[in-house]
Amino acid sequence: MRIAVLSDIHANVEALDAVLAHVASARIETCLVVGDVVGYGADPAGCVERIMRIDAASVAGNHDWAAVGRLGIEAFNESAAAAIRWTASQLGSAHKAYLQDLPLERREAGILMVHSSPRDPAEWPYLADLREVRRAASSVEDPLCVVGHSHVPFVYGRGDGHEVFHRNPGVYPLRAGWRYLVNVGSVGQPRDGDPRSSVGIVDSDARTVELLRIPYPVRDAQAKIRAIAALPDFLAWRLQWGV
Ligand code: ZN
Repeated sequence: MRIAVLSDIHANVEALDAVLAHVASARIETCLVVGDVVGYGADPAGCVERIMRIDAASVAGNHDWAAVGRLGIEAFNESAAAAIRWTASQLGSAHKAYLQDLPLERREAGILMVHSSPRDPAEWPYLADLREVRRAASSVEDPLCVVGHSHVPFVYGRGDGHEVFHRNPGVYPLRAGWRYLVNVGSVGQPRDGDPRSSVGIVDSDARTVELLRIPYPVRDAQAKIRAIAALPDFLAWRLQWGV
């Protein structure tokens, strides 16, 4: 079975539609969503509706819970907080109920799903370097755990006294007996210098995980953000550079 793992869509419906078009054309049976469907971008309701429609198994991101008041925005920076306030005004009751009920973690198709870190998901830590990735991975017994949150993709694996840490797009083996922690990157606001959408593709038969990039109409997403006075221009600007 081929499974697409999406994270950090961040209300970027142009990016989400490009990823879903790829999913439809590439023999991918199911989608998992590891949080932050909303926040930052111009189409929070449209993105929640699409995720509800495809019935993707999902977990909560910090922006998802903040948008419905389940998490405070004290820890958010100024542009993130401004976007959350506007996002809350754009969501209908069905969208809010969906985000409100998202769990912090769940297992689906043999994969552990968490937005930030499997070690302390309610603290929302960023796994910014190999030391932190290693520490988070050491708390997981599952063969494969997928995360997002930092918007920077990686594949970390350990087994047989060895470890691997990949950060480039590519197809990587999932070795029997090893344990993997994979950050699938961000669909709607990549921050690794590559503006294309990032998505993870797990192939349970071939026993591989792919870090895949998919281009989308960045300028359209930027124009929609710039047309909304409540959203800071920085949120449009950064999409162009993937930062
Ligand atoms: Zn995010």
